[in-house]
Amino acid sequence: MSNPSLLILAGDGIGPEVMNEVKKIIGWYGEKRDLAFDVEEDLVGGAAYDAHGTPLTDATMERAQNADAVLLGAVGGPKYDTLDFSVKPERGLLRLRKEMDLFSNLRPAQCFDALADFSSLKRDVVAGLDIMIVRELTSGVYFGEPRGIHKEGNERVGINTQRYTESEIARVARSAFELARRRNNKVCSMEKANVMESGVLWRQVVTEIHEAEYPDVELSHMYADAGAMQLCRWPKQFDVIVTDNLFGDLLSDAAAMLTGSLGMLPSASLGAPMANGRPKALYEPVHGSAPDIAGQGKANPIACILSFAMALRYSFDNGDEATRLEQAVERVLADGKRTADLLGPEGGTPISTAEMGDAIIAALDASI
Ligand code: NAD
Repeated sequence: MSNPSLLILAGDGIGPEVMNEVKKIIGWYGEKRDLAFDVEEDLVGGAAYDAHGTPLTDATMERAQNADAVLLGAVGGPKYDTLDFSVKPERGLLRLRKEMDLFSNLRPAQCFDALADFSSLKRDVVAGLDIMIVRELTSGVYFGEPRGIHKEGNERVGINTQRYTESEIARVARSAFELARRRNNKVCSMEKANVMESGVLWRQVVTEIHEAEYPDVELSHMYADAGAMQLCRWPKQFDVIVTDNLFGDLLSDAAAMLTGSLGMLPSASLGAPMANGRPKALYEPVHGSAPDIAGQGKANPIACILSFAMALRYSFDNGDEATRLEQAVERVLADGKRTADLLGPEGGTPISTAEMGDAIIAALDASI
């Protein structure tokens, strides 16, 4: 049997730097765990624009469609700020998400014990936190028509439309219920059914899918504004939260910050299953290309490394090895090793991007 395939799109700025550490870890799995991947690399974002005049070529798009999973670093940078909107680096990423139809965006908010003091909330509220926000990514108010700004009488009017079909709600609900079954078996669905018809339909469809297909999972509903309050008050009450594109955008950013640094946050965007049963999948850190620290060996590679752990779990069905990698990260942090972004007000000596990668590999070695 051939190895599973990975397409690596390192991108711009710190993207290639953090991805180098992921490549070392992929190599470790091939060597030490008999878990080899066929890895291809290609360009995205500004790097692709420099080489080809477009942030994503058709050939790269096709490679992404055919890969078992895509790992992306980050795109963008000041050099590209003045480009036309149609060829900006971010368009490459948007094209990948759209053409792969990645409708389910998974953003874990996990608080490693060693970093609990980084949160703006009290240690006991966040220590040990492990929740997952599932955000619908391809529909809703960011895509609905009509949209635009037009003139009505003497003034301008800005319009966006929140629109969800039953099938769009059903597929992201299924994705959340499936996830919950692998975790603590609880889903909380968030919308604004009190003031929005799309929210009423959202609640109806989630309830129908639950009753028909996932009665074993515990389901609750919450208005998204109340959900935001509860996330700050006692986030550990949640396991999986499923919500629409707009609310998911806000709630996942708020939840992410419960845990401290941007350099720690992974994400996955999943689509429909392919012929081999694996979902279409793109894994990427939440952070951007960090031009302010690019090329200096200062970037924290953990968000990108944890994104690979998500690939092990969700694309390659290898939760044991994903947990091994997450525990290796936890051990390194518990040992006090920190990149510059993880140094608190008391300071300390930071380690470099490569040293963090090496420390995680040493912890992986110690785990077998
Ligand atoms: P950013 O996430 O790149 O950086 C924000 C701040 O966090 C910076 O101070 C940066 O140094 C720090 N930071 C980010 N990741 C870090 C890491 N791994 N280790 C240590 N520190 C880290 O966001 P920005 O500055 O608003 O945007 C910079 C560029 O990235 C822009 O061109 C933007 O469009 C792009 N961007 C891309 C993505 C993506 O590729 N998915 C996401 C957000 C922003």
